[in-house]
Amino acid sequence: MPREKDRDWDDNLYSKIDHYNLVENLEQCLQCGKCTGNCPVAAITPSYNPRVIVNDILAGSSVRLLDSEEIWRCFWCANCYRLCPVDIHYPLLMMQLRYMALENGYGLKYVLPINKFTFRALEKGLTFVPGKRGVEKIMRLRTSIGVEPWPQVSEKAIREYRAIFEQTGAKAWMENIQNMTEKPVRFSYLEGRMANEYTKGNNTPGTDRQSAG
Ligand code: SF4
Ligand code: SF4
Repeated sequence: MPREKDRDWDDNLYSKIDHYNLVENLEQCLQCGKCTGNCPVAAITPSYNPRVIVNDILAGSSVRLLDSEEIWRCFWCANCYRLCPVDIHYPLLMMQLRYMALENGYGLKYVLPINKFTFRALEKGLTFVPGKRGVEKIMRLRTSIGVEPWPQVSEKAIREYRAIFEQTGAKAWMENIQNMTEKPVRFSYLEGRMANEYTKGNNTPGTDRQSAG
């Protein structure tokens, strides 16, 4: 979507996304593009551009951020943070941006499948419990190295785990998104030349590098 057509400006977008002040120095961004130029995701997804996302957040342009498929491509390698000349912690920003997207119903398909592991941990103290054969194999292996056959989780540890989730609001937050209706995400950063190229019946970016930086 061309920027000139964006009308939905939000002057407080930065503080809404970073409401814990985890990335206090975002306004120091030089728009140098080192983050994008060294990002492995941008190398294979040319519409993914951390520099442009930072710019949108600072400008308060929320139109294409939350329903963006691109924000789910980052895998937190932190290469951008390592090379940023002003130490902007982009991965932390991305983490908070995803929370905001989820709270608005976007990207649930990426998170809900793994929610069940956390709920299981709240109940049993373990995120993953293998089937009978898996348990037997683990017990054999553990016995062979002389440790307790099965790693019992104490009731105290489970109580503490639950207390952390309840007191931080994490449990309520997870239950809330569990009941939300999924809204579709899209490659919202395709624009200009890329839009022409990829909207010819193909919305999947390829390996073109011209947009990076
Ligand atoms: S590397 Fe840092 S300063 Fe440069 S565009 Fe990216 S976030 Fe901004
Ligand atoms: S943390 Fe995300 S944005 Fe930064 S370089 Fe890695 S994949 Fe790219």
